[in-house]
Amino acid sequence: MEAALQVYLDRVNEIPFGSSVIKMYRGATDQQAAQMKQERTDLQVFLRGTKSAKKELKEKKPAMQYHHFEEIWNLCERHMVKNLSSAYDFALGTCYEAEYNHPICQRGRRADELVLYTGGPSVQFLPLPVPDPKRPWRSKECKNCNGFCTGHFMYLEKVVATGSSDLPAAHTYPPNTVIKKSLKKAQKESRDLNSGDVEELAKQTNLSTEDVEMWVTHLDSVKKRRQAAATRKQKSARQKSNDKVATTGNEFGRSLYMWWSRVL
Ligand SMILES: [Zn+2]
Ligand SMILES: [Zn+2]
Repeated sequence: MEAALQVYLDRVNEIPFGSSVIKMYRGATDQQAAQMKQERTDLQVFLRGTKSAKKELKEKKPAMQYHHFEEIWNLCERHMVKNLSSAYDFALGTCYEAEYNHPICQRGRRADELVLYTGGPSVQFLPLPVPDPKRPWRSKECKNCNGFCTGHFMYLEKVVATGSSDLPAAHTYPPNTVIKKSLKKAQKESRDLNSGDVEELAKQTNLSTEDVEMWVTHLDSVKKRRQAAATRKQKSARQKSNDKVATTGNEFGRSLYMWWSRVL
């Protein structure tokens, strides 16, 4: 396996691809990597497993796995910066709780504020996209777009320079999440999104109506494919269970026949 990997890396690394060059990097295969790979199955149970699977993991490997994962998870939860609504934002900060043995937190609060760069904003500042009120959706003033303007976001320097209380609300959710939410709502009401909804979504996400329609079609087809896969899974489970009943039935018939043949 090692030799095959090496040959593959040697062949593919540094070969041209389009206008670029492919760079291959060797992944870790040391003892720690092997252990982490082994732990992966248990970690998936810890994070996404059913209640009974988690219970089983806790009973079978309490100290080695379950509590080890739990410890890391709790540490992460304690330091996670809350209220970041987007799925793409993940930030950790110091908790400064004296009762916990966190080396950096125990140093206490800094006298000076930690900034991203000299004269820049605090490290807690997240450069989320803020819609530019001067270049809104369908802007007539916009000099950047030839034809229809789908709106722009403020330049970062301007966002930093403007006080947060004077800024318009940032886009905390990516467009697909906004569109998915609206699509779900319409589906609950047993209706399709109409042209008014599409235009409203386009304004909310700074996209063109064509782009929103493309997202709607894509999200709808993903949902349909998932539903079809779930139905196939259900059907196959039902088939398996029927086969089991049929086999059990056959076995019962055979036993009955043997019993009768012995009696008669
Ligand atoms: Zn802490
Ligand atoms: Zn524009």
